Amino acid sequence: MDTTKLTDKLQARRIEITEQMESLVSGGAVSSGEGLAFTEPVGEDRAAAVQRMTQLNMHSGLEAELGTVDAALAKIEEGTYGNCEICGEAIGDARLEALPWAISCINCS
Ligand SMILES: [Zn+2]
Repeated sequence: MDTTKLTDKLQARRIEITEQMESLVSGGAVSSGEGLAFTEPVGEDRAAAVQRMTQLNMHSGLEAELGTVDAALAKIEEGTYGNCEICGEAIGDARLEALPWAISCINCS
């Protein structure tokens, strides 16, 4: 497997995720200081509260994905990339092609 290309791909994805997270933070959905605490400001209407909840969920999802991308990058560095985190078997090229940040095989995911 060409890990140079793979690293580029993962790093590009990492930048995308970071940018999306930043835009959520700068949009006011998530305060970087407060972390992910959800507090309903006085006077905020229900629709705004729901929208904020959605953005917080998006932020958590992005954060989780960022963790996975980082884990994949660490594995490339260690030379263990492509092996399942759980059972240790090869993840398989087809799966890695579709999901370069996959860290577990299809059976374990
Ligand atoms: Zn597995």
